[in-house]
Amino acid sequence: MLNNTANPAWPSDVEVAIIGTGSAGMAAYRAASRHTTRIALIEAGPYGTTCARVGCMPSKLLIAAAEAAGAVRAAAQFGVRPGQLAIDGQAVMQRVRDERDRFAGLVEATVHSWPAEQQLRGHARFLSDHVLDINGHHLRAERIVIATGSQPSVPAAWRAELGDRLLINDDVFSWDTLPASVLVIGAGAIGLELAQALQGLGVQVQLLSRSERLGPLTDPLLLEHGRQLVGQSVPAMFGVDQIDLARDGMGVSVRAHSRFGQRLVGRFDWVLAATGRQPNLDGLGLESTSLPRDERGRLLYDRSTGQIGNSHVFIAGDANADSMLLHEAADEGQIAGDNAGRFPDVRPRPRRVPLSIVFSHPQIMVAGATWAELQQSDVGFACGRVDFADQGRSRVIGENRGALHLYAAHTSAILLGAEMIGPKAEHLAHLLAWSIQRGDSVQAMLDSPFYHPVVEEGLRTALRALQSQLERGRAGS
Ligand SMILES: Cc1cc2nc3c(=O)[nH]c(=O)nc-3n(C[C@H](O)[C@H](O)[C@H](O)COP(=O)(O)OP(=O)(O)OC[C@H]3O[C@@H](n4cnc5c(N)ncnc54)[C@H](O)[C@@H]3O)c2cc1C
Repeated sequence: MLNNTANPAWPSDVEVAIIGTGSAGMAAYRAASRHTTRIALIEAGPYGTTCARVGCMPSKLLIAAAEAAGAVRAAAQFGVRPGQLAIDGQAVMQRVRDERDRFAGLVEATVHSWPAEQQLRGHARFLSDHVLDINGHHLRAERIVIATGSQPSVPAAWRAELGDRLLINDDVFSWDTLPASVLVIGAGAIGLELAQALQGLGVQVQLLSRSERLGPLTDPLLLEHGRQLVGQSVPAMFGVDQIDLARDGMGVSVRAHSRFGQRLVGRFDWVLAATGRQPNLDGLGLESTSLPRDERGRLLYDRSTGQIGNSHVFIAGDANADSMLLHEAADEGQIAGDNAGRFPDVRPRPRRVPLSIVFSHPQIMVAGATWAELQQSDVGFACGRVDFADQGRSRVIGENRGALHLYAAHTSAILLGAEMIGPKAEHLAHLLAWSIQRGDSVQAMLDSPFYHPVVEEGLRTALRALQSQLERGRAGS
């Protein structure tokens, strides 16, 4: 028996219900709308998407402020002396919030331009395979898209001990001004970006990481190089095997120890936990469904269709815990929404080549297959490298730090992947991802035009090194 008394204006049955109105849910809505108007778009939290409200955009706004400060600090090497650097924390945060609100407002306006009767505000929970409870309202849906996003994964013991001195990324973007000191835990993309941005804005920062990883990098030589580079811009301790945190008045005292014998004893105003993200699946009532899951409780779904098992339920965006990136969330939303709309005529869609960028200093990028994936595969591959220390244009602009590694298959000489920490990585990442997706050979890339003097000439150096590695491999076989 369906309960439709909670909100009589809401529909009692629809063709497609989409849980979550983030980037994936909005893309799913647009795609499903091409098949039906009987849609419910459900949202428990604020509109505006994680990306615009507390993710990609405000983090890049904070980084832009730090880059402006960095340009002032770097000016002296060019003989330019702009005077004493002053950072107005209130003005920095005001611009971050104002621009963030503008971005989120534009997204919100889009949602509000869609038919109001399709928008349901409340927390959705499965009562059975086809019935959702939304704050007491029961909705029957022929097909359902789960696009519930993710949330920071923070040890419960830290929350209990540190109380309001423990921050997650969302908190940073609502600050009125910059704090004096922050301990950042985690050297994934979010931890690295925020730690370096805050340090660049004059906040005393210490970065701690249990692992020796740096964002998405997997190549051991690049990781070694990258840790040194990051350590030059922010105090960083990797391989931390013990962290003791204790609330200390209006701050937090920390004792940490690394596998390499480093020790940290200190006190910070805040701890920012950037210790990974977990999909928002708890509280969704999945136990009331027959959806297939693996032994660790993860939903079994097809990346090319978004379909969970052979069911009428699809999943998209961070909720599937695949790559947790904006462009992937939007693609997955489009695929899942289209297939939910056309069900049972479910169609697989080719996925784009993986592309991941960290707006660190220097920037980090991974395009195509990673070094670790190639190592684990049975593909024989060669590696071509360039170090940017002596790269012409990079020296001209004073950003000659870092390295690029390219990987190509021995048999086909086709570019398979790339990893980099270095100048203009966000742009090289695109060139490389597009080449990898097209299936370019190393020779075809070398035959392409390179202007002078540009950072891309560094890519040509790496391609030449890769070509000679491939030739050496052929000569040796
Ligand atoms: C600090 C930070 C920086 C980032 N920077 C980048 C970047 O530079 N580039 C990049 O590509 N990616 C970046 N990302 C990742 C990117 O933001 C996410 O991959 C993307 O926003 C995920 O979109 P989504 O639609 O899956 O989730 P969301 O946008 O979070 O949407 C999920 C929605 O579902 C709602 N919801 C959850 N459960 C329910 C329920 N039961 N009922 C109803 N509604 C529910 C939530 O309230 C939310 O609105 C960053 C993330 C963070 C946190």
